[in-house]
Order: sequence, then C-alpha cells, then structure tokens
Amino acid sequence: MPDRPEPKPGRILAAALCGLAMSLAAFAQSAAPPSADSVTAHVAAATALAGDDLKALMGLCTPAPATRPSGSASGGVNPVAALIARPAPPPGLAFDNLAYVGGRWSGAWALQTSQGAILLDALNNAAEAQALVEGGMAKLGLDPAKLRWIVVSHAHGDHYGGAPYLIERFGSKVVMSQADWQMSETALEFTNPLWPGPPKRGPGDLAVSDGDSLTLGDATLRFYITGGHTLGTLSTVFDLKSGASRHRAMLWGGTAFNFGRDIPRMDLYIAATARMAQIAKEQGISVMLSNHPDYDGTVAKLPLAVAGGGANPFVIGTPNVVRALTVMGECAQAQRDRYLLMP
Ligand SMILES: [Zn+2]
Repeated sequence: MPDRPEPKPGRILAAALCGLAMSLAAFAQSAAPPSADSVTAHVAAATALAGDDLKALMGLCTPAPATRPSGSASGGVNPVAALIARPAPPPGLAFDNLAYVGGRWSGAWALQTSQGAILLDALNNAAEAQALVEGGMAKLGLDPAKLRWIVVSHAHGDHYGGAPYLIERFGSKVVMSQADWQMSETALEFTNPLWPGPPKRGPGDLAVSDGDSLTLGDATLRFYITGGHTLGTLSTVFDLKSGASRHRAMLWGGTAFNFGRDIPRMDLYIAATARMAQIAKEQGISVMLSNHPDYDGTVAKLPLAVAGGGANPFVIGTPNVVRALTVMGECAQAQRDRYLLMP
C-alpha cells in the first residue's frame, strides 16, 4: 500500500479493518482444531523449511512423551551416563571473542570481554567443568580464573551441574531467571545421581527478568525469557567479533519438549519462537547457537571456524535464524496438537 501523507478517516478505518481481518485469519489458522491432518501439516511445513541445513532441529518434530521422563537411573541403567560419556570435541574459538568449551552432549560457551569472561552454561558436573571449561580455556590461552559470570540458561542439571565447582574455584557469580532460581530452590524437575545439587543463590548472583541485560567490560548480554522447556528458560543475545566484523548472536536456552503433556508450556514455547524470530529480524541476528551441539552443528562447524580462511560457518544470516525458529515453532505446534488429541 503506497504511503499517503494525510489519509482520510474512511481509509484509516478500511486499513484497520483490513488489518483486523488479516489478524483474524491468522488466528483462525493457528487455532484450527487439532487433528491428525493439522499435525501432519505442521510437520510437513517444518520439514520443508528445515531443508538439509537445519535437519538437526527436526528431532523436535518426533512425538514427545506424554509424561516427563524420570531422567534418573532405572533398571540399573542411567541414561545420562551414556550421554556424558560421549567424547568431547576439542575446545576452539568459534569467534575472536567466543570459545566452545563444552562436551559432546551439553554445550558451554565462554565469551571473552575486556574485563574477564562470561560462561554460557556450565555442563553436567565438576569433572566436566574442570576438564572442559577450566582445561579448555587454559588450552586456548584464556584465563579461567577470570570467569566472572556463569549464565545458566535453565535449571536442569546438564546446564548447572558444573557451576558449583566453578563458583568455588573462581568466585564466579551466577545469572538465572527468577522462575528457574525458584524452581531450583523448591522443586527440581529432574534429578540424577550424576548431577550435583544446583548452585545456591548467594550475594552478587542475579535473578533476571525478560529484557534485562548484563554488561561486563566491552560486552553486553540481553536476556529474553523463552519459556516452555522450563518456565524461566533464558535465551541470550550478544555480539561476536571476527576480525573487523561484528555479528549479533542468539543462544537459544532450552530446546526439547521433555516436560510431558502440558499445553500452556507448549503455548509458551510457540509464542517464544515467534517472538524471537521477530527480534532476530529487528536486531539483525545472524548467528544462532545452542547449548546442545547436536542442534546447531557445533562439532562440524568449530574446526572450520578455527581453521579460518573462509566464511565463518556459524554466521548463517538472519533469514536462516528466522527459519530455524520457525521450524522449531512448527514442530511445537505439531506436538501441541498431538497432546490435545490425546484422550
Ligand atoms: Zn533442559
């Protein structure tokens, strides 16, 4: 529609009604009654959007359990043990100011600033924190003693388990959402003998809300609550450096649907993917990272980024970040409909 400096009231009303009709159409579409067909349609949309490059996200479209998995040892087999046992990739600098120091199952990223480092997620336990975070940073010539902050994306043990060790060793402070601090203090969703208890909230630790930011030296992190995986899952947005280039990145805080049949949580998740897609467009976010390397292809991309010489494979561009979030949203809508269809 061409811009007109002084639209007549009739035209404004027509435009408003047109907008309303479009919103209602979109609403009708999203609120179509769940059916086997609606599930199939959402999965088909996700599959088409994912193509080959985002196939790793399609695991989200496989049916999720109706009840929350216990996650702890059953029948003598601890499922977490096998996941932790997967050999970790070598640490490496994905960007000038961002190192991967995580495992093969759970991820950890160390952001370097002019006044120390910020760790994004803390792995499963003290052994991993010591070997992969402390050891990895040292291997890369980064000083783990300057680890000022640990951002825990959500209160599940595979993301906070190494925090108590790092806090004790380096005096790092913890950032978590208010909702997940509370969950960690009152009713943990998952426990496992391989995870220590969650970090205890102490002086200087932060409970953040949606839109809050944290500045350390020349870096500022902005936190968004992308609820669903947990109620207070934090997704973090920050800037990365590659030579003279700057790239805006989002670290998605919680991906899987492992909370069982819970429609309000599915709705939170769907809304979060749509909102973050909008924020990705507004802020020109061109890098999408995960805290589980299976989702973002870190293991394949990291050696290429370290070798340099070509385009950084972590920089996928804003349209692809939006596409990734849309794939996740479509899979979430398929799962929501599956839950609604259950007797
Ligand atoms: Zn989790």
